[in-house]
Amino acid sequence: GLKGQVAIVTGSTSGIGQALASALAMAGVNVVLNGFGDHTAIERDRTAMEEVADVRVLYHGADMTKPDEIADMVAFAKRELGRLDILVNNAGVQHVAPIEDFPIEKWDQIIAINLTSAFHGVRAAVPIMKAQGRGRLINIASAHALVASPFKAAYVAAKHGIAGLTKTVALEVAQAGITCNAICPGYVKTPLVESQIADQATARGMTPEQVMKDVILAAQPTKKFVEFDQLAGLMLYLASDAGASVNGAMLSVDGGWTAQ
Ligand code: NAD
Repeated sequence: GLKGQVAIVTGSTSGIGQALASALAMAGVNVVLNGFGDHTAIERDRTAMEEVADVRVLYHGADMTKPDEIADMVAFAKRELGRLDILVNNAGVQHVAPIEDFPIEKWDQIIAINLTSAFHGVRAAVPIMKAQGRGRLINIASAHALVASPFKAAYVAAKHGIAGLTKTVALEVAQAGITCNAICPGYVKTPLVESQIADQATARGMTPEQVMKDVILAAQPTKKFVEFDQLAGLMLYLASDAGASVNGAMLSVDGGWTAQ
């Protein structure tokens, strides 16, 4: 089992990352949480996770736009928890706008957080994992790593970039007991999606209700949001010994979206 292993989950103060961190803790993994938010709320979540799961849970506030802070977070995990077995690159942001109006600073921010942060995390984690002879690099990509949607230029470019990074790193670490894979979720009901319903409505000239029905769930043949547990199940499989031959894969969990 995963008991006693150590994981970092970036962007784990909300949504998918929070659910993945909690699933790892429940599997006996000591976890480093990361992400923005109210410090009292983060501290409450951290101690609750520690008590319920009976593992060590630490928090590192690295800003995913800052390469030195990301490297410091990886060193922190190793120093404080003794090793690093699993890195889940999950932190991500979204901005929805037509290309000709796409704010330049939003492009730069999304590429930094959704793509470049994974490079810095992997770059710092691989030497530790190589020395251990084992490691799991798990990138939370998106259906948008495989297909596009209008008005999401930076997000789709960053997620397609994650696909390239995932495959390249997979080849480099294949003989070192390390795997590198991407999970590609369809729509999951998190604050990231809830906030874009309003933005999509503005960009498309639709009501929020029409966006939910005709834009968001229209893409997903199941007409259901993907659930946190469904992503956590795949992550735990990839992290396990059984997942050792899954390498460089883009694994869709999207209700059939990218089958179309
Ligand atoms: P969310 O908004 O609920 O959570 C995002 C997390 O990232 C938060 O913890 C936030 O604090 C953190 N974060 C943002 N900027 C950061 C920064 N500069 N430094 C450190 N942390 C930062 O979003 P979510 O929906 O849970 O998304 C998580 C990941 O899943 C993202 O990579 C997203 O692209 C991906 N994803 C989401 C969906 C979906 O439908 N929600 C679908 C496919 C992929």
